[in-house]
Amino acid sequence: MIDLRSDTLTRPTPEMLQAMMAAPVGDDVFGEDPSINKLEEMAAEMFGMEKAIFCPSGTMTNQIAIKVHTQPGDEIICHEYSHIYNYEGGGMAFNAGAQARLLKGERGLLSAKDVEANIGNKMDVHAARTSLVSLENTCNKGGGSCYDLSTISEIRAVAKKHKLGFHLDGARLFNALVAKGQKAEDYGQAFDSISICLSKGLGCPVGSLLLGSEDFIFEARRIRKKLGGGMRQAGFIAAAGIYALENHISRLTEDHEKAQNLKDALEKCSWVESIEPVETNIVIFYLKADKDEKAFMEKLKENNILAIGMGQGKLRFVTHLDISDEMIQKTASLLNSL
Ligand SMILES: *Cc1c(COP(=O)(O)O)cnc(C)c1O
Repeated sequence: MIDLRSDTLTRPTPEMLQAMMAAPVGDDVFGEDPSINKLEEMAAEMFGMEKAIFCPSGTMTNQIAIKVHTQPGDEIICHEYSHIYNYEGGGMAFNAGAQARLLKGERGLLSAKDVEANIGNKMDVHAARTSLVSLENTCNKGGGSCYDLSTISEIRAVAKKHKLGFHLDGARLFNALVAKGQKAEDYGQAFDSISICLSKGLGCPVGSLLLGSEDFIFEARRIRKKLGGGMRQAGFIAAAGIYALENHISRLTEDHEKAQNLKDALEKCSWVESIEPVETNIVIFYLKADKDEKAFMEKLKENNILAIGMGQGKLRFVTHLDISDEMIQKTASLLNSL
């Protein structure tokens, strides 16, 4: 099977598994797991932030951040494509009692002007209190789109002017860093909190990190406990994260090249209506109106290729650690034969 559905599907490499098996562990709820402590320190240092906390999922790191940044009834400014709104089970309402103000913007990206225009009037009791701005980089539903640092600093300036928290859902932040040649420290300086996933492009079986100030992460630890996310000898999975931060970042360019190759192949296909720009490891394309999405995906599957259907003829391929050059070539020639 050539599984292009998601970069979450990767299995640990033999070297990663070895690092996991050899991990020193302890009880992390007691703060005594050396591997988790090392991973948290490594990540915080990488971004120039004070502290980090290891969690089971990116949904949990986002949800904890939202809970720490908001009070019930508050409003979160985010893009209508955002993962925190679309794909976290209504968690912002369930966990934080907060609501979203959804903005538009090309390929899942916000602008400072739109953010400022949508901040609730604090003096008006009718308005929800805006307390958080959340960006997503890369934006999944936007096709792996990336922010320029200049846009991020403009939005940060607006957030700070209005005393709002500034969170980044950086599930695929390393893809953006590599694609744009940006530095992790620039993100650490811009945001109050950052969530990063180890289980996407970095290839870990499990795990996400939330980064922030010492006070913020102290509160985050309390919320993680309430959510049941305090794990014990989880150093075995943290060790995969350490291995990935040391070995799997720069290779993301290979995934990006493979995504470009898929785009090149799709451009030659008569049945493709259009293709979104490809900046990282996600390729979103649209079938011509007379093509049926389900039937098309069935056809791919018969040829051992899996994709994700996003509805209305919108399809997604994601490249990752377990996709080889040979698999890309096979996929390209099959696409061109359809
Ligand atoms: C995957 C993802 C998350 C977190 O998802 P989990 O499956 O809970 O780890 C958050 N944001 C974005 C943009 C994602 O793609």
